[in-house]
Amino acid sequence: MNRRNFLIAGGIALASVGEMTAQMQTSKADCIFCKIVAGTAPAFKLWEDKHFLAFLDNKPIMPGHTLIVPKVHHSYLFDMSKDEYKGIFERVRILEPPLLSTMNARRIGLLVEGFGVDHVHVHMIPLTDRGQIQQKGRADVTQEEFQALAEKIRPAMNKK
Ligand SMILES: [Zn+2]
Repeated sequence: MNRRNFLIAGGIALASVGEMTAQMQTSKADCIFCKIVAGTAPAFKLWEDKHFLAFLDNKPIMPGHTLIVPKVHHSYLFDMSKDEYKGIFERVRILEPPLLSTMNARRIGLLVEGFGVDHVHVHMIPLTDRGQIQQKGRADVTQEEFQALAEKIRPAMNKK
């Protein structure tokens, strides 16, 4: 690489860092969860309020496997403000009873990892026994099955 190319490459790198910082508090164009929040990518949405959205994981570990995400793009759970962090777990607590009862689960297991999609998400996984959280996602869920699950869970989560 000659010096001129190096300078151009360096300039581009700096520009994208600046861009990322500017978008941190809103949304990222290439982020699938931001698209789901914006309604430009499909998902089986279950529940939402002003700041958070819950929808079915498209590669569920167990039936009813739900994700809850902040509507604002954050990469890492622990980068969120204290209020946002508390906020997501308060919603997890609100959504646990309806998810537990509609899925006839014994417990709702939680998982936060975040290597798959770079937008904070808490997995809420209906469990009936130990070891289930280690299973690989099922790829064999049809759109009709997702639809049926969403129609079962959604009314329970939105009951006033
Ligand atoms: Zn995002």
